[in-house]
Amino acid sequence: MFLTQEIIRKKRDGGVMSAEEIQFFVRGITDGSVSEGQIAALAMAVFFNDMSMDERVAFTLAMRDSGEVLDWKSLNLPGPVMDKHSTGGVGDVVSLMLGPMIAACGGFVPMISGRGLGHTGGTLDKFDSIPGYCTVPDNTLFRKVVQDVGVAIIGQTASLAPSDKRFYSIRDVTATVESVAMITGSILSKKLAAGLDVLAMDVKAGSGAFMPSYEKSVELAESIVKVGNGAGTLTSALLTDMNESLSPWAGNAVEVRGAIDYLTGKFRPARLHEVTMALCAEMLVMGKLAANEADARAKLQAALDSGAAAERFARMVTALGGPADLLENMDKHLEKAPIILPVPAPRAGFAAKTDCRGLGLAVVALGGGRRRPSDAIDFAVGLTDLVELGQPLQAGQPMATVHARTQAAAEQAVREVQAAYEIADAAPAVNPIVYRTIRP
Ligand code: URA
Repeated sequence: MFLTQEIIRKKRDGGVMSAEEIQFFVRGITDGSVSEGQIAALAMAVFFNDMSMDERVAFTLAMRDSGEVLDWKSLNLPGPVMDKHSTGGVGDVVSLMLGPMIAACGGFVPMISGRGLGHTGGTLDKFDSIPGYCTVPDNTLFRKVVQDVGVAIIGQTASLAPSDKRFYSIRDVTATVESVAMITGSILSKKLAAGLDVLAMDVKAGSGAFMPSYEKSVELAESIVKVGNGAGTLTSALLTDMNESLSPWAGNAVEVRGAIDYLTGKFRPARLHEVTMALCAEMLVMGKLAANEADARAKLQAALDSGAAAERFARMVTALGGPADLLENMDKHLEKAPIILPVPAPRAGFAAKTDCRGLGLAVVALGGGRRRPSDAIDFAVGLTDLVELGQPLQAGQPMATVHARTQAAAEQAVREVQAAYEIADAAPAVNPIVYRTIRP
């Protein structure tokens, strides 16, 4: 038996909590026996005094085990259970293609995705833009779709890592979110509750990233790799660029359209393709579904070119209640915005820099994201045709297309997109797409 205040005191004074103390505290977060004030105090103590890697592993496992942990063993799946998680970004539609691509290569992907947060989009919101698609299936259907199709992308349920929900909501209002130790535990507890053998993390760096600097993104990636592996899941992290939208599309239905065009081979934007392939290849190698990166890339390209990945996506959509002809008849099913306006380049030059966060906020202002958690999303709105950094522009040439509900919202978004791009006389140095891969 422990005394909660003694655990807080220990961390306040820079001590190291034992695994048993951490388990006791996290149990108290879940069952309510630890008060909000005590949780806030521990969060602040951790914020200043940090947690060792052993503490982080114990904290992650305790949060993971605070609710249901999915178990796939009883299904005897003929391949590894794998997932990817991104720290969030703009135009990051990777999950929609990655899940079906991995499934087509023999992996099983029970992807539990989240809603948009701040300026970043959320996979769950994108799937909600598909009419009929059920993002909250019961456990039996979820397991059946993972088993039959190889991939099911659904929403977070209250039964997975419930301690994180309470802990995060208190961190959020006590200025204690920005701690690599606590972010690691928060992200991993939810992901590992899905019972994964393999996890690839996409940690973003740049002006649209959740982490405030490149160095902090590296620190988070290294922490997640150490703690994920320490918690028994084979984990790697890719550090990828978020200084501009990852794809030319940012919104919800517009990103679903983009993902379908990618899967069917109509249009595969190079930056998006590279991040998707790099993450998928890392997963296939970790899961021993490919001998090495070159072999993995060949298998993934074949899954795209043969239509096998597109077919998995279509089967997942249908199995979860969406339209059977979504890939063939996108326009029939995905909502379109009534006002479509080009964003003219204010001057000639090269697209040199974007305030990527600003682009994400322009989508939120159009109604494509939330200002408050209870807000409804307008699935139809967003941005398309976003130009990539380095592209030469004539004055007046479109840099993007705005999809809006009203003329006033469209005009406002045009100004915001113009303000988010910096146009220079010289071509900028090109940012790497994948900065680093961090492995155990
Ligand atoms: N996302 C999470 O899920 N948790 C954090 O602490 C930060 C970002």
